[in-house]
Amino acid sequence: MPGGVSSPVRAFGSVGGNPPFISRGAGSRLWDVDGRQYIDLVGSWGPLILGHAHPAVVAAARAALDGGASFGAPTEREVRLAELVLERYPSCQRLRFVNSGTEATMSALRVARAATGRDKLIKMAGNYHGHADSFLVAAGSGALTTGVPASAGVPAQVVEHTLIAPFNDLSAVEALLDAHLGEVAALIVEPVVGNMGVVLPEPGYHQGLRDLTRRHGVLLLVDEVMTGFRLARGGAVELLGLEPDLVTLGKVIGGGMPVGAYGGRGDLMDRVSPLGDVYQAGTLSGNPVAMAAGIATLETIDAQPGFYLALEERSAALELGLREAAARAGVAVTINRAGSMLSVFFTEWPVTDLVSAQRTHTQQFAVWFSQLLANGVYWPPSPFEAAFVSAAHTAEDVDQVSEVAAKAFRYLGT
Ligand code: PLP
Repeated sequence: MPGGVSSPVRAFGSVGGNPPFISRGAGSRLWDVDGRQYIDLVGSWGPLILGHAHPAVVAAARAALDGGASFGAPTEREVRLAELVLERYPSCQRLRFVNSGTEATMSALRVARAATGRDKLIKMAGNYHGHADSFLVAAGSGALTTGVPASAGVPAQVVEHTLIAPFNDLSAVEALLDAHLGEVAALIVEPVVGNMGVVLPEPGYHQGLRDLTRRHGVLLLVDEVMTGFRLARGGAVELLGLEPDLVTLGKVIGGGMPVGAYGGRGDLMDRVSPLGDVYQAGTLSGNPVAMAAGIATLETIDAQPGFYLALEERSAALELGLREAAARAGVAVTINRAGSMLSVFFTEWPVTDLVSAQRTHTQQFAVWFSQLLANGVYWPPSPFEAAFVSAAHTAEDVDQVSEVAAKAFRYLGT
């Protein structure tokens, strides 16, 4: 296994040290194979909004598995989960299930290219949309240059179609659209960014993107893989009042099992095979066990009135605890938070885009992170990732994390 892991950030490359091997989780807690216990703020990188091994999710998945793991044929559970999703996303008239966020964004882009007859894509620097070739692009040197591959093995001929703009910069998007009139199929954006750490959209940014894309006949693809069902019942689209043409979903939608989905306007989604000419398929897509876990997750959320308000309050308390702890230790931090997604940047400056995120003190983060881990708090092992609060985190958990963080800030301050 390259680096000993199944996905790179797990190897602790940006913070050093060896990652604990996890043996089990329950609620807000994780245990490693050496018996150490942690308060978990990674939450499997977002899916576990109910915490680990939620009884309703476990029971639903178990019941589904008892009836057979996979059929490769239509099932009622897919219909049920699709209903639950479309109810929350009125901008989506049709939905296709896939197995990951990567598959969702890759397929939605294919639909956008087919529907517009155009090849180019605009993406924001520091936004992550999975590892399909078209998205693995770093910004070129000049504002109007096309991107360069961010990974070996990605053909330059593929990424020459990917144009990069800084996040929160409408004039850069306008310049790209003007320079590539009639060539851009879609603009994809993380509505609230989680993948350069949490970065919030400035007021008017999303409306500006909508206006510009409409004016240029460009489809707006809102990537809700991380924010969907997390920031609100209907994700960032609901919270921020967005009007996407296509939406991609992942993480929470599978309750910890591998599920992704893409959906949108009926006329666009009707291009997807077997109805239309855009090919996309999957042996395990709509898998019954994964569908069951997703259904149980969304239904459990609905069964708790005030679910998102409680999550917001708990997350706000964590933000406050961390802020106060850093201030007491005299350590400069910028904490960006949207609902239950949160990042601590070691800087005294605002973090609003990739450039400002990369100017933060990553070494300080690494030391702070190691102190947290040593004291039983499992924080994301990179300054450019979001920490996730779940409904399983208690007020005591928040106090404990704040205390441990205070000790780590003091360690840094000395
Ligand atoms: N889009 C966003 C916004 C993500 O955060 C991620 C994963 O972190 C992806 C897409 C890719 O999803 P997956 O890792 O399930 O392929």
